[in-house]
Amino acid sequence: YFIALEGGDGAGKSTQVEALATWIRSKGHEVVVTREPGATALGKRLRSILLDVSETGISHRAEALLYAADRAEHVESVLRPALERGAVVISDRYIDSSVAYQGAGRDLSPTEIARISRWATGGLVPHLTVLLDVSPETARERFTEAPDRLESEPAEFHRRVRSGFLTLAAADPSRYLVVDAGREPEAVTTVIRHRLDRELP
Ligand code: C5P
Repeated sequence: YFIALEGGDGAGKSTQVEALATWIRSKGHEVVVTREPGATALGKRLRSILLDVSETGISHRAEALLYAADRAEHVESVLRPALERGAVVISDRYIDSSVAYQGAGRDLSPTEIARISRWATGGLVPHLTVLLDVSPETARERFTEAPDRLESEPAEFHRRVRSGFLTLAAADPSRYLVVDAGREPEAVTTVIRHRLDRELP
């Protein structure tokens, strides 16, 4: 069973990933926690390039392809093997992050980004995508870990990213859970657990 957590910077993804992993493990499942970019050896190198060049700039198409390369490696060496042996996989970011950041956020077509991602993943789609939705203003108050990362893009960029995520969720409501992530982390976890209680095998 494959769960992707998506959302902008400061939405609280890593907190939720940890809380969910602990809870699902307590139900007796093997849980693999992973993330993009940077879950594999290649991914770690790509992540450092991607976060580095976010300061100096990189062409948008090259950036999109590096994220796709990270994801292709992730699917092949982490996600598929874990899913094949029956583990529950929780990924901090997946395809939707590319569609939202490199597509809606930049000037590339979200449809084209989705198409590249489909090719990169061989069509692997999560069973459930949880979108932690938070306003850029709340995210900014919260995101003390690396505030310069948020500020490296204008507020308008973060608004486009947010609406990119919401558009994806609206197009496929049965596969998405959109949670108001401006609430207390415990309340957010409860909403997600409620949904998983019905869906986890
Ligand atoms: O989620 P995480 O903090 O690991 O993401 C690292 C950075 O990469 C974030 O600042 C995010 O804005 C950016 N990112 C991106 N496009 C993606 C995924 C992440 O610009 N597809």
